[in-house]
Amino acid sequence: MKYIRELVRELVHKHGTSNPMDLAKFENIHVEFDFYEETKGYFIKIDEIKYIVINQLLNEFLMLFVIAHELGHALMHSNNTYIMKYEKGIYHTDSHETFITNNIYEREANYFAVLLLRSYFQAYENSLPSELLEILNAYSNIKEGFDL
Ligand SMILES: [Zn+2]
Repeated sequence: MKYIRELVRELVHKHGTSNPMDLAKFENIHVEFDFYEETKGYFIKIDEIKYIVINQLLNEFLMLFVIAHELGHALMHSNNTYIMKYEKGIYHTDSHETFITNNIYEREANYFAVLLLRSYFQAYENSLPSELLEILNAYSNIKEGFDL
């Protein structure tokens, strides 16, 4: 997972921001918003153009996390899959990879998002918004090797 840490560091350095929305823009990834009942968001690539679609009903912190998570897919997994969609608590993918591989992708995207948002909120280190902390903790709780 060290390479994800490197990726986040390089990305933040390259663009001078750790705001997931700005990073998506600088990386030519389109961010769209839509209404969904179950789907938090997904990444999709159509004709080599990358899109992140976010459920605009999410609260601002979860929305930020989902954008960061999908940005992770867009930067790390866009060659492996066409679409990754979070629905009813599980991620669906139409790639031909196995579930285990999909699970690895999800863990990588979560790790990417956690690192990026910790960087984004660095100034608040000891006073992260509690809503954000809850989300980060929920998604940081992921196996060994994810030393944050
Ligand atoms: Zn995902």
